[in-house]
Amino acid sequence: MIRLFVPNDLAAGAGVMPAPEQGRYLTAVMRLTVGAEVLLFNGRDGEWRATLAEVGKRLCRLAVTTQVRPQQAGPDLELVVALVKRGRLETIIEKAAELGARRVRLVTTRRTNADRVNLPRLDAIAIEAAEQTGRLDVPEIVAPEKLDRVLDGWDAARRLMFCDEAGGVPPALDALRDSPPGPWATLIGPEGGFDPAEAERLRGLAFVTSVSLGPRILRADTAAIAAMTLWQAALGDWRG
Ligand code: SAH
Repeated sequence: MIRLFVPNDLAAGAGVMPAPEQGRYLTAVMRLTVGAEVLLFNGRDGEWRATLAEVGKRLCRLAVTTQVRPQQAGPDLELVVALVKRGRLETIIEKAAELGARRVRLVTTRRTNADRVNLPRLDAIAIEAAEQTGRLDVPEIVAPEKLDRVLDGWDAARRLMFCDEAGGVPPALDALRDSPPGPWATLIGPEGGFDPAEAERLRGLAFVTSVSLGPRILRADTAAIAAMTLWQAALGDWRG
């Protein structure tokens, strides 16, 4: 069944007017007619069944009926990722949503060579991925900040898995298996890698666990997917 993310509060009897492009998708693309059912979620109220109640020229209205699933929090994993070229960044956002990241924090580092992002487009990618993947929330995409600032304000209760391409650090899976669950983030550098001073600072921070993703240098998008996968397998909701 079609799943749509909406900002509205969801409760039995509520009426929801989908955004014009969602309405077009339902009625013009998917050709739903009055009485058809869809699923709605908003990141707060769980997942709800809704019926297409009215179809107008420009807008349509959905009537919320019954709750299908209550809201549940997914694992607390953040992805902190240096800006990379647009196509790769968009892949990273889509995969972070699929792999269950709760938030993506974009950072600039000394070797970052991109500095502008289209946040509304990244949000739209995150929403679309969340809709198709069945999750009950949409990852928040946080506008770019300087890595040093992010580290200055870091909440020490959250562990940071630093993916260090320089090597000489334990394999990620070994390091994660020996680590406590709880809030985590994983950090992926830009295509140019971390500058030695940045890497040095990271290695010295008490909340950081430095890890290797194997003997090959991965592109940032591959590294992000690999790191989130390993975390989900070792500490997240891929465990049995
Ligand atoms: N140009 C850099 C590589 C950057 S790859 C170089 O040649 O050294 C982009 C990011 O992906 C890195 O900063 C790191 O966070 C991550 N990464 C890639 N391969 C990795 C590996 N084998 N182990 C750990 N992290 C890796």
